[in-house]
Amino acid sequence: MADERLEATGLRILEDISALILHSHDLQETLDNIVQLVAKRIGTDVCSIYLLEQDGETLRLAATRGLSKSSVGRITMKISEGLSGLVVQQKGIVATDNAPLHPRYKYFPETKEERFNSFLGMPLLHRGNPIGVIVIQTREQRTFRQEEVSTLSTIAYQITSIVINAKLLDSIRRNEEERDRLERELEKLKSIGAPPGKTRKARGKERRSLHLMGTPVSSGFSVGKVAVIDHSVADGMEVATVRPTNEERHRFLMALEKARIETIYMEKRVAETLSKEDAAIFHTHLMILEDRGFIARVMDFIEQDYGAVRSVNEAVAHYVNAFSQMEDPYLRERSADMEDIRRRIISCLDGSCKPVPKLRERRIIVAREILPSDMATLDHDKILGIVTEKGDVNSHAAIMAKSLGIPAVVGVGGALQNLGLKDEVIVDGSSGHIYINPSAKIKEEYARLEADFSVRMRELEELRDVPAVTLDGEQVWLRANIGLLSDIRIAQANGAEGVGLYRTEFPYMTRSAFPSRDALFSLYRRVLEGFSPNPVTIRTLDIGGDKTLPYFPMPHEDNPFMGWRSIRVSLEREDIFRVQLAGILLASAHGKIKLMFPMVSSIGEIWQIKKIMNEVRGELTREGLPFDQNLELGIMVELPAAVQTAHILIREVDFFSIGTNDLIQYTMAADRNNPKVSRYYDPYQPAVLHSIKRVVDTATAAGKPVSICGEMAADPINAVLLFGMGIREFSLSAPSIPVVKQTIRALSSTMAEEVAREVLALESSGAVRAYLLDARARLGL
Ligand code: PEP
Ligand code: MG
Repeated sequence: MADERLEATGLRILEDISALILHSHDLQETLDNIVQLVAKRIGTDVCSIYLLEQDGETLRLAATRGLSKSSVGRITMKISEGLSGLVVQQKGIVATDNAPLHPRYKYFPETKEERFNSFLGMPLLHRGNPIGVIVIQTREQRTFRQEEVSTLSTIAYQITSIVINAKLLDSIRRNEEERDRLERELEKLKSIGAPPGKTRKARGKERRSLHLMGTPVSSGFSVGKVAVIDHSVADGMEVATVRPTNEERHRFLMALEKARIETIYMEKRVAETLSKEDAAIFHTHLMILEDRGFIARVMDFIEQDYGAVRSVNEAVAHYVNAFSQMEDPYLRERSADMEDIRRRIISCLDGSCKPVPKLRERRIIVAREILPSDMATLDHDKILGIVTEKGDVNSHAAIMAKSLGIPAVVGVGGALQNLGLKDEVIVDGSSGHIYINPSAKIKEEYARLEADFSVRMRELEELRDVPAVTLDGEQVWLRANIGLLSDIRIAQANGAEGVGLYRTEFPYMTRSAFPSRDALFSLYRRVLEGFSPNPVTIRTLDIGGDKTLPYFPMPHEDNPFMGWRSIRVSLEREDIFRVQLAGILLASAHGKIKLMFPMVSSIGEIWQIKKIMNEVRGELTREGLPFDQNLELGIMVELPAAVQTAHILIREVDFFSIGTNDLIQYTMAADRNNPKVSRYYDPYQPAVLHSIKRVVDTATAAGKPVSICGEMAADPINAVLLFGMGIREFSLSAPSIPVVKQTIRALSSTMAEEVAREVLALESSGAVRAYLLDARARLGL
């Protein structure tokens, strides 16, 4: 009972600390609030936080509840003295029930510390380096219990990130204040010496420090000067002079032809520099440029004397409007393609668009949005980072940045207004922070982060070619989740041992019509060749829900996630399914394919799939075409129905792959894309964890492999838990592979099994989260 209370207390403290972070305004206030909270909740007489000075030798009291308030900021000690110093030196816990008797005890009269007997000190470790200490003390002599130590260690972990972030923000604020002060003084000086009216101009030339935020879409840091892509001039073109209708008609048709040629050129360039799949978007552009409906719409406006320029603007506006109102985020982003087409035609009409700047040196690109033609025109090697005002994870900027491994932040309000060619910028693609003309302090901090990041990248790179084997010799397979051909390079760079999930809908999405059997065959063959001799697990089309194809209208459904999606579409539209199966079978003659079906809910579907497969095999055999006769067939376990009948389904297939993204959504009845219910969408819910365990046990008992391919596995602590549950094959987004590999290599099976056993015995997601937070700190993850 007491333990439960304590656990509940620990959880409440964590929740409260999270609330504190949101509500505190600066580092001092945050730390003051934390010490108050911890002392009160754990019931100790003292809680103090000491932070390590820049010299790495001196600890300074930063906040306290229980010691004399006036000693805050004044008391310092070398790490070679006092119990707190010992915590730093040892980078570990120091606990005693009689502090004054401890050989390292040091008496500070200002704190009136002699009244406290028991002492528990915990280091605040950032990437393994101490940045301070949190200490709790009581008057009575008492031994701190394991649960208290564990709660404090979790708190220490949280405080560390608060301190690091708060320090960064504090230095920005100080820098801004300092800048304002200097500006005021400058102003004073100027108003003495300079004639009135000049001050404003002078101030305009000053480079301001600013901090903006956006959505991080491609991780990493970069620092550099800016190149602005500003297409706004084209927006003002509606005032162009209108010539006679037949002349405007002719001008438009000429421009259309020119735009077509440019588009073909761009497609070629992107295919060469990125991949054919990335270039396929220009195919769609060509289709629109040749679309009779589109051309007729423009012509209509021209007939009404709008002039060619305005007519194009009006016609495109119609499409942009229609796209931007679509529910599907992918299609919404396609309004950017219409905008791109508009710009291309108009620039061909009168050359009014500013060309994309030619980068002479490496720069951070700042734009309202990056459109496909920018992607085609820019020199990728010269892009240091990307900052855009518009866009989300589906935007071209995001896709391009990820493909190229360039740090990028999108949705940064005010980026164009606040950034100029002379500005220096830090782009933090991992957290979404943008620092404009940062202070020396922030630059220093980022230089350190960047150095850490590159050291870490180097360490991880060294891991690329070593196997993921635990300390006691258990082999784990780490494969990649891929979608586009450009993912192959990223997966290879991260040491993926084949593909555990190839989401085949992406190549369908970037096309303008269903691909043919031969197009699919050559696409799948290229993927296979990229990973040979490792296997590629191809998942058949998983459309519906949040994934739609521009050329395949889905019926309106009140509840698309519960509706006509995935294998249900394939089994009803056999024509589409058969073409895909044939493409896959043909490719199977060129490498190791494993074939996987999504969203299976009953054995009847597997029978139906097998029947169709046999017919397709028969057709290929009749044509005399070779394919793998022993192709392994598996299903994704994503539905509670599949979990419940796993023992039946496993008899019919060669492997299972657990798709936790959907399994969580369907188990918890919580839409994976709806922030309103995100707190229900929780991988740590016992309902989810026991489902996973059940599926793993069923497959293992049947002697068949089971892998996991949902996002959940990308977090190293979750990988420990899942390994402990018996999973030996993980399919991850490629950049997560090295970190998970590092974790696996430092792991023993016994340790992981203990984590899994203890987690599965917990009854709430909160308890699982707290346990894993603690385990994360214990395992140094
Ligand atoms: C899943 O559902 O966990 C999964 C991997 O598939 P997707 O995210 O493509 O639905
Ligand atoms: Mg899924």
